[in-house]
Amino acid sequence: VKLNGKNDFMLFDPSMNEDIQRKASLEQDLKLAMKNKELELYYQPKFDLELNRYDGMEALVRWNHPVRGFIPPFEFIKIAEESNLIIELGTWILEKSCRFIMEYNRTHHSEYCVSVNVSTIQLLNENFEKTVLSILESTGLNPAYLELEITETVFMNSMDTAYEKLKFFKEKNINIALDDFGTGYSSLTYLKSLPITTVKLDKSFVDDITFNAISFGIVDNVIQIARSIGLIIVVEGVETNEQLQILKSLRCHKIQGYYFSKPVPEAELPLVLSQYH
Ligand code: C2E
Ligand code: CA
Ligand code: CA
Ligand code: CA
Repeated sequence: VKLNGKNDFMLFDPSMNEDIQRKASLEQDLKLAMKNKELELYYQPKFDLELNRYDGMEALVRWNHPVRGFIPPFEFIKIAEESNLIIELGTWILEKSCRFIMEYNRTHHSEYCVSVNVSTIQLLNENFEKTVLSILESTGLNPAYLELEITETVFMNSMDTAYEKLKFFKEKNINIALDDFGTGYSSLTYLKSLPITTVKLDKSFVDDITFNAISFGIVDNVIQIARSIGLIIVVEGVETNEQLQILKSLRCHKIQGYYFSKPVPEAELPLVLSQYH
């Protein structure tokens, strides 16, 4: 039996069993990974087009498995979410990124903001607010240097809870970004009623912005509307100078993408950031 792709076996048991087994063993391994320091945070800088310099970075988790090698985050984050490990993992990620940015800013005399991805399950957990506040307190990080990146799935089933929680964070001066905007059901009109500070437009729109008039039109609209209601607009997945120039002409606030830098380990950040400061 040859297993060379996810779509090869839709009807037979072997691959399904393997899937379930892989999942179960990854779940075990993930618990150990947190203990054994196989997890690492990478950081991808965010470029401010108005200030013409980097103003912050997004923390992105990496798992280097001793046997299986590199496991992409979308795979193990999903497993962590299904097993509730996401609470412990998410807390670890938040703690580590806050501590890192605090120390980085102190030693480099900089004022970078760190953006941390927060899983929907994590946000809706009843202890989440307490966890965030206690991390801010123990690290000493100014809340204005923290941004929580959430996705619209938080609004699907628990609009009221999500709304209250985000409002709480916003009142504490913590930034809230709505990630992957445009990929789900979120409409521009409801943006203005949400307690958020930033919208991150999904990479899929920028991919064909140079040759697809519809994508161009959507990006143009999202940017102008976001600006008009006082939200910061970040476009992610920018890979070419051509895309960058278009976004600049549309008055997009911030850009994230391989054009500037891939996510890099802590040690490489000073060099990357020194290119535009
Ligand atoms: P995301 O939050 O939308 O993160 C952006 C993803 O796009 C990252 O992939 C980043 O490396 C990639 N990216 C950035 N610029 C470019 C570009 O110019 N071209 C291309 N092709 N890709 C680009 P990554 O690190 O593999 O993360 C994938 C997803 O996994 C993230 O999507 C996020 O949903 C999740 N994730 C990653 N780290 C964390 C974490 O610490 N906590 C949680 N809850 N989820 C995380
Ligand atoms: Ca994100
Ligand atoms: Ca995103
Ligand atoms: Ca995404």
